[in-house]
Formats: sequence, C-alpha cells, structure tokens
Amino acid sequence: IRVLGIETSCDETAASVVALDDASARPEILSPRILSNVILSQVEEHAAFGGVVPEIAARAHVEALDGIVEAALEDAGVTLADVDAIAATAGPGLVGGLIVGLMTAKAIAAAAGKPLIAVNHLEGHALTARLTDGLEFPYLLLLVSGGHTQIVRVAGVGDYRRWATTIDDALGEAFDKVAKMLALPYPGGPNVEKAAARGDPARFAFPRPMKGSAQPDFSFSGLKTAVRQAATAIAPLSEQDVADICASFQAAVADALADRVERALLRFRAGYPDKMEPALVVAGGVAANRAIHETLERLCADNGFRFVAPPHRLCTDNAAMIAWAGIERLNANMAETGAFDFVPRSRWPLDEVSAPMVGSGR
Ligand code: ATP
Ligand code: MG
Ligand code: FE
Repeated sequence: IRVLGIETSCDETAASVVALDDASARPEILSPRILSNVILSQVEEHAAFGGVVPEIAARAHVEALDGIVEAALEDAGVTLADVDAIAATAGPGLVGGLIVGLMTAKAIAAAAGKPLIAVNHLEGHALTARLTDGLEFPYLLLLVSGGHTQIVRVAGVGDYRRWATTIDDALGEAFDKVAKMLALPYPGGPNVEKAAARGDPARFAFPRPMKGSAQPDFSFSGLKTAVRQAATAIAPLSEQDVADICASFQAAVADALADRVERALLRFRAGYPDKMEPALVVAGGVAANRAIHETLERLCADNGFRFVAPPHRLCTDNAAMIAWAGIERLNANMAETGAFDFVPRSRWPLDEVSAPMVGSGR
C-alpha cells in the first residue's frame, strides 16, 4: 500500500508518501517505508507576533500546499496513479488550516479517483512509534506538544484511552509563555532550554503542580504564575537571572512530569503481562527537550519500561504520521465511507475516534 498524507492543522504545511509492503503476507510484521517527508514550517511568518496567528497560518497553507504535495510525490518518485489513498488531517487544530488541507485532499482524491481518509491528528502522533519502531500494542503514550499534554493507553488502531490530560495549559504552551515573559524569542521552548543550560536549577523553588495528587492529570498554569511572580520580584532581569529562572522552571517541569508519568507507568504495568517489557512512547515538540528526555529515560529504566522516542522530525507535526495512520486504518479495515462529507473539527479528542472515514473518490 502507498498513501499520500497531508498535514495542515497548525503551523506546518506538510506532505508525505509512506509505503507498506507485504502486509497481507505477514500482517504481524510491519515494514513501512517513508518514501518522502516534506515539511514547511511557518515559524518565521509567526515569529513577529510571538505565536501562531490563525489567519496567517491558513493563508500560508493555501499558498504552499500544492507545491509541498508535488514535492512529496516527486521525492517519493511516484505519481498520484501509484498512490492507493489520500489521508489528510481533519482535526483537531486551527480550522482554517484544516479546511485547506482537507479540501485539497478531497480535490486530489476526486480527480485521481482514490479513497480519502480523514485522519485525527492525535491518532497520527499516537501511531508514529509503530512506523518508526514497529512497536506492538498495547503501549503507553505521553504526548507533550504546543496544544496537548496527555497520557494515552494505545491498545489498537482506534482503541485509545486517555488516562490524563492538562486541566489548564499544555506543556509546550507553558514553555512558550515563560519565554514570552522573559522576552526570549519565539518559538519559546528551544530558547528556554538554551538559556536553562547556563542557569542554576536550584535558585528558585518553583511549585511541582499536582505532585503526589491521586488525580492523574497535569497542570501548568500555577507554575507559570510562580515564574511570573519571581521574574517581577527581581526585575530588571540580568541575563543570569533569565538563565536561572529557565533552569529552575525546567527542573520543576521535569519533576512534575516524572511524578505524573510514574503514576501512569504503575497503572499500565498492573494490567500488563509480568514477563514482558512494557513501553512508553513520547511524542510532541516538547520531547525535543534534553532534560525532559533524560528524566523520562531514567523513569522508564527505574520502572522496567522500554523508552521509545521517535526522531524529532517525526515527533513534531509532520505528514508521514498522517499517511501512516491512513495505512493503519486501511490495514485494520477501519476505514469506512464518509470522508467526502467530513467536516473539519477544531476539537476532536482522541478517545472519540472510533470507526472512521473513507470515501470513494467518485
Ligand atoms: P499540536 O501538535 O498539539 O497541535 P504544536 O504544533 O504546537 O501543537 P509541536 O509542533 O509538536 O506542537 O510542538 C511545538 C511545541 O513544542 C512548542 O510549544 C515549543 O515551544 C515546544 N518545544 C519545542 N522544542 C522544545 C524544547 N527543546 N524544549 C521545550 N519545549 C519545546
Ligand atoms: Mg507545530
Ligand atoms: Fe501535533
């Protein structure tokens, strides 16, 4: 099977062709190949505004998408005739971008007479570890991005149980807001990490939100407020002050995250065969953070979990994961009719993804 994937849910315009060989011969062994993975980031368009501006994003998707799709086909060395289906992100995300991606996918599918698969963006993140590492179900997923902070038990295609979510800010959002209040450039996360490398993580005793709580969820807005108060109290800030705040913030985040994730590891372990090694997968842009990566790695080692962190380019928003989710859907016979009528959904929780959504291209 070959699927063309399209991703436009936020500030990346992306297209990709992914192939799966011999699925029918040995369905238990997946051997996918990413034939192309083209990503155009709009970071520069949004930098001046310190965040993603939906109207600018939608316009940029319109301008770029046709060329990105062409590039993805060309890189893969295929034409539309060689592709078995088109998969496009249909939600959740910024509705302007979703409309651009899904409409374009519908037009391509209709013109080429191919099936269209409407993919949930979060399902793409959730299944990436099977594309990169051939991971078997079930596994535990920690998704930490600009828009989401969730722990999900991934038990099969379409079988997702959300065990925890943030009750206020997403973790990437907290990084971005802290960067903004410290006048660090957009995007915030990488710049906070860079500053933290020169800082003292023990200078500020920031709160570890939810630590020790019996409730499984995350919270980051109190931590963000504590950072704001500390920064205001010692303003004007020297470069060293900024570095110390970043390092202390990052330490608090890593500590809070470890507490929340460990709770989920124990719960997952309890329902898992004793003799087998369970796995934790991390996805989303925040997974790029070294301190967080190392914390999670250690946590997994201590708890007998395999730690799976797909390459950064496949952890952040991309279309290979969307093409792959399309292949998984086709493979599991969980692609049903209706995608041509599918209306993009800005809100579409992963555990509301059940039996989707393919339409014939006629
Ligand atoms: P979503 O996928 O939830 O729709 P998104 O497109 O914003 O949202 P990603 O592109 O996966 O998500 O990740 C971007 C987020 O990751 C931003 O909030 C960014 O600040 C954060 N981030 C990136 N690199 C780092 C880092 N090194 N440390 C911390 N945060 C980071
Ligand atoms: Mg993004
Ligand atoms: Fe994403």
